[in-house]
Amino acid sequence: MEPCPFCNIVAGEVPARIVHRDEQCTAFWDIHPQAPVHLLIVPNRHLADLNEAAAEPALLGHMLGVAAQLARRMIGGGYRLVINTGREAGQSVFHLHLHLLGGRRMGWPPG
Ligand code: AMP
Ligand code: ZN
Repeated sequence: MEPCPFCNIVAGEVPARIVHRDEQCTAFWDIHPQAPVHLLIVPNRHLADLNEAAAEPALLGHMLGVAAQLARRMIGGGYRLVINTGREAGQSVFHLHLHLLGGRRMGWPPG
């Protein structure tokens, strides 16, 4: 199996700017931020995408709660959560991640 960049971050084998860590998920800064605050929230266990995680509502709910807490702590105002699922939608890392973006005004629809 190909090495997974986010498994490596969770394992502490690759450096990242980690802002939150608990028994279920880890959150860190995106290396190519698209907003003044751009964090990624990932499950500690490898799940390729939202489809693989669909049978785990407790985990998904926990990750959403962590996202809201981080948004309150680090953004304050409005924010956006994005889960790209599949190459057609722009997913490039196949370890589930929530993008948490904020700190600027955003357009709609997204590109
Ligand atoms: P996506 O295109 O939705 O799969 O998002 C993948 C995101 O992961 C992109 O925004 C990348 O900038 C980010 N990314 C890739 N590798 C790393 C890394 N080692 N540390 C932090 N962010 C990363
Ligand atoms: Zn992984």
